[in-house]
Amino acid sequence: MMAAVKIHARCMDCGATFAFDPAQPQCPTCGSEWLQAEYDYDLARHVWLAHLHERPFNVWRYHELLPIREAPPSIAMGAGGTPLLPSIHLGPMLKLPHLYIKDERQNPTSSFKDRQAAVTIATLKEAGLTEMVVASTGNVAIAYSAFAARAGIKLWAFLTSLVPQEKMREVAIYGTRLVKVTGTYDETKQVAAEFARQRNLYIDRGSRSIPTVESMKTLAFEIVEQLTQAAPDARYGRLPWRAPDWYLQAVSGGLGPLGVAKGFRELYQMGLIDRMPRLGIVQAAGCDPMVRAWEQGKPVADPLPRPSTHITTLATGNPGRTYTLLYEYVREHGGTFVRVSDEEAFRAMHMMAKMEGLSMEPAAAVAFAGLIKLVREGVIQPHEVVVVNCTGHTMPIESHLLGERWARHVVLAQRRAQPAPQAPQEGLLAALSNLAAERYPRVLIVEDHEPARVLLRRILQSLGDYTILEAKDGYEALEIAQREVPDLIILDLMMPGLDGFAVLDSLKAHPATAPIPVIVVTAKSLNAEEQKRLLEREARWLYKGEFLSDEFFDEIRSLLAQVRDGTGKG
Ligand SMILES: *Cc1c(COP(=O)(O)O)cnc(C)c1O
Ligand SMILES: [Zn+2]
Repeated sequence: MMAAVKIHARCMDCGATFAFDPAQPQCPTCGSEWLQAEYDYDLARHVWLAHLHERPFNVWRYHELLPIREAPPSIAMGAGGTPLLPSIHLGPMLKLPHLYIKDERQNPTSSFKDRQAAVTIATLKEAGLTEMVVASTGNVAIAYSAFAARAGIKLWAFLTSLVPQEKMREVAIYGTRLVKVTGTYDETKQVAAEFARQRNLYIDRGSRSIPTVESMKTLAFEIVEQLTQAAPDARYGRLPWRAPDWYLQAVSGGLGPLGVAKGFRELYQMGLIDRMPRLGIVQAAGCDPMVRAWEQGKPVADPLPRPSTHITTLATGNPGRTYTLLYEYVREHGGTFVRVSDEEAFRAMHMMAKMEGLSMEPAAAVAFAGLIKLVREGVIQPHEVVVVNCTGHTMPIESHLLGERWARHVVLAQRRAQPAPQAPQEGLLAALSNLAAERYPRVLIVEDHEPARVLLRRILQSLGDYTILEAKDGYEALEIAQREVPDLIILDLMMPGLDGFAVLDSLKAHPATAPIPVIVVTAKSLNAEEQKRLLEREARWLYKGEFLSDEFFDEIRSLLAQVRDGTGKG
């Protein structure tokens, strides 16, 4: 399909407008490199409201607002169109019921950089360019490598030598010319820019490149469409589409939120959403020039010459004007800049894998660590609709992320020794009995509300090897407690029939169950009288929504460690 729309570029410095041409990255009037694409928004609104629902769900769906003429381009391979997943466990743990995860891992090369590569490469192909340059902390180079291979475009990728070997190999496999630069990412960008200048090649200039910024708008477009489907009766928004209250992302140079912000602005301008989301911009503490500037109230960020985070993907020390543009957005529409330590990010990464089934690279986990921080600080409120960009998969770097002992080894020695393999299951079963459940401490979860029970079960499963027993009400709890004498009981206080206090009294009245430690969990706050009752019965208590606290995990671990030591098992 050919659309006759002409794409205009407007200079952000002198205001001149001219026809967009990727081979002409500067304003012809003043020479500025800061250009913005403009479109026929009335036409786009008209076409979208009438025809969007008929189109496949990927970036090309929005081609009226992308700098391409032919859609879908021949190189298309399903970039974008990623799921917006409701959080199953993290949301309840944070008391944040409207938490959604934009799963950008499900792009062709497993990060949200596929949007950037898909749109840029399509633009270059239309312009007849056959060679280009990128500087990258890894994922941009991988995404561009794949799309360049499809388009028959020769790619030069400049990577800092800090990029993990696995990512380098991934780039090389597509036939990209890989140049390793021993230096920071900012230095690598300078080397790549000089190389491109000397050879007169197109280079992705990040926030200064129109196709690059435009590609990231598709995230905003998808999110509002998906939220509208997920929550049609949400209090939020009355126009055709719903905008979230927050968009959160881990940033390096800040290109992602910059493009997403432009997308929201265009939707607002077209009358398709009725408010502008706040931006939660999260940086690694070892590379936090934006957060520092924000804290000082400054619209310009001082470059950080030597970033010191292990999370290489996020190592842009000099965000330049991108920060200023994000600063202006956040000042106008709300949001914040926040930092998290590498350790917090790694913890969030393990938690997201174990609690949500989402294995993400540490850079992506930075956003979730930031979310946890902003919720705890009360910056994000419980009623708000929050979308977090899960920007990239662990796959390319998995070997770095798992400690030792990540798998259990079942040796089928018996079976090999047997001359006739009549009963191979016996050998297997014998080997599996090493993993038998009886050897593990036993925890009884008493909770009438099913999702809360599943959440507690999942927390225990992720903490270690416990045999988990479950009771749906107080009567069942007492029956199981008598029969099984578990090592620990986690007890919901508010249950129909026999409530938590009654269960506790009954446990304490029987010699067999009296010594079992009990942790009471409660949604409502306890008055002094209730606290006294629990203290007299030696129960500890914890409020629901505090399940993410380290104290809770430590408490369970230490109670059960006592059990282990005491019995000499395990
Ligand atoms: C590039 C990247 C980021 C940072 O994105 P910017 O918006 O360019 O700052 C975060 N996470 C992952 C996985 C990335 O690849
Ligand atoms: Zn200009």
